[in-house]
Amino acid sequence: MEILITNDDGIYAEGIAALAQALKKVGNVTVVAPDTQRSAVGHAITIADPLRVVPAKRGGKLFGYAASGTPADCVKLGIKAIMKKRPDLVVSGINLGGNQGYNILYSGTVSGATEGALLGIPSIAISLDTFKNPDFGPSASFAVKLAGQLKKRALPAGTLLNVNLPNIPAARIKGVRVTNQSRTSFNDWFDKRVDPHGNTYYWMTGDFKPKDADLASDLNALRAGYISVTPIQFDLTNYKFITELENWKIKN
Ligand code: MN
Repeated sequence: MEILITNDDGIYAEGIAALAQALKKVGNVTVVAPDTQRSAVGHAITIADPLRVVPAKRGGKLFGYAASGTPADCVKLGIKAIMKKRPDLVVSGINLGGNQGYNILYSGTVSGATEGALLGIPSIAISLDTFKNPDFGPSASFAVKLAGQLKKRALPAGTLLNVNLPNIPAARIKGVRVTNQSRTSFNDWFDKRVDPHGNTYYWMTGDFKPKDADLASDLNALRAGYISVTPIQFDLTNYKFITELENWKIKN
């Protein structure tokens, strides 16, 4: 099994090292990941600048390829320029921080996997729901299990898996729930500040509180101590609304 790994926290992040190490058990791993922190770049790609790619070492050994682009760039580069064989699986992560609810629209981690799915390859995004004291072990083990499943089972065209784990010891994880995307987004606001030269600047911050009591959501699964697996898709069409919109009889 040929596996392409990327992330959005950058190739030197701890999460991608844990993921690559674990997935070596199930296949040939190629890492192509951003050379710097690229969180929240969404599905951006680089079209007005060249993409520089250099070998990246960890612990004195070749770990992968560091690219001057986004996660979506890295997946395109990996598949179309770097790997000798087309991958059987694309895995993006393990992200430091959960990717649930509408946050996934901003997520570079999820977009790395979305790009894989766009290119017709089974793809998984995997995130650990914490920013402090991460233990990537259970996430890495779960990635190995899912990769094994995807050897035997197919995902529908245009669908990828968005996986989130709570940051608790493996023994305390209650199980796996197949979930839907929560209808929650960051409630964000801007801190207005003044720099040493007297110029105003803004720094976005916020909190994340569930707005729905949807027990089947990704957010609620995580809060209850479960691993959340959400099948997501990138066809943004609202099919239910097509007929009504046609009835508007919009004219040019
Ligand atoms: Mn990130």
